[in-house]
Amino acid sequence: ESVGMDMRLRPGEETTVLPEGQDAALHFIGRINTPWTRREECPRQGQLEGPECRIEVFAPWVAALEGIAAYKHLEILYWLDRSRRDLVRQNPKGDGTRYFGTFALRSPQRPNPIGTSQVRLIGVEGAVLIVRGLDCLDGTPLVDIKPDRCEFTPQAPAKPL
Ligand code: SAM
Repeated sequence: ESVGMDMRLRPGEETTVLPEGQDAALHFIGRINTPWTRREECPRQGQLEGPECRIEVFAPWVAALEGIAAYKHLEILYWLDRSRRDLVRQNPKGDGTRYFGTFALRSPQRPNPIGTSQVRLIGVEGAVLIVRGLDCLDGTPLVDIKPDRCEFTPQAPAKPL
């Protein structure tokens, strides 16, 4: 699938003008390896019983994985790098029949194309996490890893009053 195909507008879709010169300067902390190389092959949302995927954490961040094996589930944030970022109105089916505003969708096409998935942690092999539950293309940049909210909250240090 070429980038050109991805970027094509569907009937009735609307774009806006992207601002210039603002940048949150994310650091990509790793790379995600999945079985999917084309958008159509990816599941719409990851399944906890889906195929095993590998999250490769880059060397400067490997020490930040300490303690992660204690969690059964993680939240993964990633950068949907092959998305267009100027769509305000989208036609998910591509047939020109129903439209939705971008913020009423979990579409990858959004101003800041951050994807999130809850995943099951299968194993930790050094700098690599083996997980199930992702829906992104092979090579998708990794933005963050957090322990599952429900598993983490009971263990979180108390907040000083
Ligand atoms: N689970 C995430 C969420 O809800 O934030 C992403 C959901 S989004 C509907 C998942 C779809 O994004 C996939 O089915 C695929 O079509 C597309 N996608 C996956 N990886 C992508 C990437 N690196 N760049 C652009 N689109 C991607």
